Amino acid sequence: MSLFSAVEMAPRDPILGLNEAFNADTRTTKVNLGVGVYYNEQGRIPLLRAVAEAEKARIEAHAPRGYLPIEGIAAYDQAVQKLLFGADSELLAQGRVVTTQAIGGTGALKSGADFLKRLLPNAVVAISDPSWENHRALFEAAGFPVQNYRYYDAVTNGVNRAGLLEDLKNLPARSVVVLHACCHNPTGVDLTMDDWKAVLEVLREREHVPFLDIAYQGFGAGIDQDAEAVRLFAQSGLPFFVSSSFSKSFSLYGERVGALSVVTGSKEEAGRVLSQVKRVIRTNYSNPPTHGATVVASVLNSPELRAMWEEELGEMRHRIHSMRLAMVEQLATNGAKRDFSFVARQRGMFSYSGLTAEQVERLKNEFGIYAVSTGRICVAALNNNNLESVTRAIAQVL
Ligand code: PMP
Repeated sequence: MSLFSAVEMAPRDPILGLNEAFNADTRTTKVNLGVGVYYNEQGRIPLLRAVAEAEKARIEAHAPRGYLPIEGIAAYDQAVQKLLFGADSELLAQGRVVTTQAIGGTGALKSGADFLKRLLPNAVVAISDPSWENHRALFEAAGFPVQNYRYYDAVTNGVNRAGLLEDLKNLPARSVVVLHACCHNPTGVDLTMDDWKAVLEVLREREHVPFLDIAYQGFGAGIDQDAEAVRLFAQSGLPFFVSSSFSKSFSLYGERVGALSVVTGSKEEAGRVLSQVKRVIRTNYSNPPTHGATVVASVLNSPELRAMWEEELGEMRHRIHSMRLAMVEQLATNGAKRDFSFVARQRGMFSYSGLTAEQVERLKNEFGIYAVSTGRICVAALNNNNLESVTRAIAQVL
């Protein structure tokens, strides 16, 4: 008998499966709104000019490719901290934040989860309902039981604030609470500053450990605006975790550039925490890759390239927003008998469109338009060439 004869087929990743079906579709009019990637007006993943410049300089320098320290490039880690906490952050001045380079936002979540498992072996992890589909799998793989807290309200297309606060209160004390700092994936619905303050008070009361996941900084309202929740938590005095990613904001998906930051109570605590996070990294992949983080650090630390990046990030943000407005308008023009104005209020790359699984299926079968069965569409995959056909199709399946 083969060693693997009893191995069961694991369930397919629903979104990657969608991509496979899209690629196999021969219709020239097909549109993929199922992706989690920003496409430009030409329908391509952009290579940012600031990135191209930094890469050119790096190639020309013919730098050797030795191992990085376990925690990654120091200049990168420091640049990440400033972006998240603000250049004039007191926490940073006090040396209370530990930041380690990570293999994308996913790697940051995983290192954080593994460290937390040692710290709080019996804790429950709570994620939003709904959430990025990997949150649950990732924390379960680290050995935690994972629960949902109420978040999205399908009736108002907004946040179920009362349900959220109640569920956070009812979690066992010292639970780990994963929160999307901005541009909630998959709904596009974010907490207001008042909501954040209310959440923070419950977390404080119940001694929960906040784990802020920020994968879309700069895609919502702006670089600093999107970090408002992180900065609020920074002022709270609570310990917390932040996983961050440059996959989207630098359009560096495949380079796997992220970071884990842990906010501790003192510089002395930070030193001990760093030693433990390094242990987690060392036993997982030893040390991180060089290319992406070198590029990001050189962009963030050069005034000229940084200005270029901020401009390009602004262009991506504004293009998404203009697609949201155009989508609402075109849906109405095409006779959609439903108010879609909520789409314009959502933030980031995604929209919970309110389309049902049957409607999504019809979009695919009849029009070659691919979306996630939950109704999540990637607004960043819309452009002026496909907007008309997409909105016409949606209006027809409603
Ligand atoms: N968190 C959230 C909320 C995300 O949407 C994503 C990416 N889809 C990630 C983390 C992971 O980011 P990365 O691709 O950098 O691993």
